[in-house]
Amino acid sequence: MAILEIFERTGAILKGHFVLASGKHGSIYINKDAVYRYAELVSTLCKGIAEHFRNPTSYGIDVVAAPAVGGVILSQWTAYWLSKLRGETILAVFAEKSEDGKTFIFKRGYAGSIAKQRILVVEDVLTTGGSARKVVEAVRNLEGEVVGLGVFCNRGGITPEDVGNVPEIFALIDLDFESWDEADCPLCAQRVPINTEVGKGREFLARKAGEGI
Ligand SMILES: [Zn+2]
Repeated sequence: MAILEIFERTGAILKGHFVLASGKHGSIYINKDAVYRYAELVSTLCKGIAEHFRNPTSYGIDVVAAPAVGGVILSQWTAYWLSKLRGETILAVFAEKSEDGKTFIFKRGYAGSIAKQRILVVEDVLTTGGSARKVVEAVRNLEGEVVGLGVFCNRGGITPEDVGNVPEIFALIDLDFESWDEADCPLCAQRVPINTEVGKGREFLARKAGEGI
C-alpha cells in the first residue's frame, strides 16, 4: 500500500483550515498521530525506511534513534525491520525534550548506546525539521555518527543542511502543500473557521481573542 493511501485511510490527511506548527496557515494538515493507531501500517512504513538503509556496507547502522513521543514507536519498528533484514541486532532508542524544551537528550541509560556507533535518525513528518535536527545534535554530542535521516514524509522541502548537514535524507514521500502567512491566507479572507482539534488552531484563536480585548 502506498504511503499516501495509508495516510488517507488512517485519517492522517485532513482537509480544512489549519494553523500549522510553524504558525503558517494551510488547507491540508497531516495528523501523523492518527497513523500510530494502526500498528500494522506503521510497521509497513518503517519497513520501507529499513529497506532503504539495510545495506551494512553503505550504512552499517548500529542504532536507530528518534524524538519522543511518536518517535518511540518509529524507532522500535524501524530497528525491528533492520534487525530482520540484516539478521543481527539493531538497537532502538529515543531522545526526550530537555526540561527547558530547547534540546533533546538521551535519558534512561540510552546515551551509552550512542557513542562511537552509527546512528540512523528517524522521524515521522518533517515540517521544519526542528526535532530531527535536535536529535542529530544530541547524537553528535555523545560522539555518535549520524549516517542518515529516514522519514515517512518530507512536507517542508527540508534539506540535509536544514537538519545539521546529515549525509542523507530518505523520505517515503515528499509532499509540498501550499501554506501562507496569516496575512496572506485566502481561507482567513473567506472567514473559513479554523480547525481547533489539531495543529495550533486553538492557540491561534486564543491569541486573536486576547488581542481583541
Ligand atoms: Zn488562515
